[in-house]
Amino acid sequence: MIIVFLGSPGVGKGTQAGLLCAAKGWRHVSTGELLRSAVERGTVLGDRVRTYLDDGKLVPDDLMLALVEETVGGDAQGVVLDGFPRTQVQAEGLDAMLGRHGKGVDRVILLSAAEEEVVRRMLARGRDDDSPDTVRTRLAVYHRETEPLVEYYRSRGLLNEVDGVGEIPAIHRRVMAALS
Ligand code: AMP
Repeated sequence: MIIVFLGSPGVGKGTQAGLLCAAKGWRHVSTGELLRSAVERGTVLGDRVRTYLDDGKLVPDDLMLALVEETVGGDAQGVVLDGFPRTQVQAEGLDAMLGRHGKGVDRVILLSAAEEEVVRRMLARGRDDDSPDTVRTRLAVYHRETEPLVEYYRSRGLLNEVDGVGEIPAIHRRVMAALS
């Protein structure tokens, strides 16, 4: 199974992807976490992507596709992609990559919440890239680059929208129900 979590920054993709993977024994691949860890470790990749993360901008597609190919590769048994794809180019690249291994995206979970709510959550969690300016940039980038993927996946019959507002266990039950 290859599952994609789609939704605005701050909507709870990381939390819900983690719970889903714990329940199913799948692998949680968060591109944001991979990038933050590369920055912290000061790897070559980390040095190349640091300013994008600090500014809330998207890391270039070619770097992201290479990172995901390297991480997921051909042996994607049960994988939950959290924070990838984020652009049309990434979505098409992912389809091509999986297609080479006779696979494809099986389901897309769109987590939704009102914008005031995701802003509140991001400012509350206090990650380095959660300053008010960066939050504004990340939301604008989401609307411009990532939101079109909702239609990309809906038109392929892969999309399930899940209400991302409420208690974490309740949202998890909705995610499980959407996949059953
Ligand atoms: P996240 O933890 O998913 O909110 O990602 C944090 C930051 O990592 C984003 O603001 C981007 O700078 C970068 N990032 C994560 N995933 C991607 C992606 N698929 N494409 C481009 N940049 C990404």
